Amino acid sequence: MPAEVHLFKCLKDNYGVLLHDPANGATASIDAPEAGAVEEALRTKNWRLTDILVTHHHADHTAGIPELKEKHSCRVVAPRGEAQRIPAVDVTVREGEFVTIGTLVGRVLETPGHTAGHISYWFKSEEVAFVGDTLFSVGCGRLLEGSAPVMWESLTKLRNLPPETEIYCGHEYTAANVHFALTIAPHNAALRARADEVVKLCSAGRPTIPSTMASERLTNPFLRADTPGVAQAVGLAGAPAVQVFAAVRARKDKF
Ligand SMILES: [Zn+2]
Repeated sequence: MPAEVHLFKCLKDNYGVLLHDPANGATASIDAPEAGAVEEALRTKNWRLTDILVTHHHADHTAGIPELKEKHSCRVVAPRGEAQRIPAVDVTVREGEFVTIGTLVGRVLETPGHTAGHISYWFKSEEVAFVGDTLFSVGCGRLLEGSAPVMWESLTKLRNLPPETEIYCGHEYTAANVHFALTIAPHNAALRARADEVVKLCSAGRPTIPSTMASERLTNPFLRADTPGVAQAVGLAGAPAVQVFAAVRARKDKF
């Protein structure tokens, strides 16, 4: 039986996600922005919370953990490098380790840059990846605790996931990201198509998530820092990809 993924909005522009294994009833919350919204999602689906998979320590991803842990006695899995800054951690994980949710198996990918210990969870058989605030649809996280080379390496690691992988990120930032991306690549046909789609989804009040890695490869300027067009757009034709990436990120910071 394939896994079920339930996406829901919480806080201002965060996404909560539940990953459910119908084979044995296990359910993981990817991060826990706020307990109330996670509880409501669990009630809606009639699922029982067994695990919380934390991507990074920021409060808008972890504030709900204590209350959920107390109520459900769920297991809290967190990045080894940030466990001290995350409440109620039971298990810490690092690059290449596996996490099981019922019969579902996720692989841990270290994707630092937004925070120093940020991790992503890739469920290969389910063709889904939970990337927190490292990669957004048509964007990427701010470099709060990492340099451009560190983030570029994280993004290229994610870019190597199979194209059909569905990408679940931590925030609904897609419309603003598309707006910026069009300033870098105004003639990118895939980006323009995505822009139209995002306008339709947003005006219907629907999420733009999940995206796919195939779509991100074609539309996301941060994943395309090693293409001539993006380098040229930031006045760095022929420069190393990491330098182009840094320039695109800096430009977005001021956008
Ligand atoms: Zn964050």
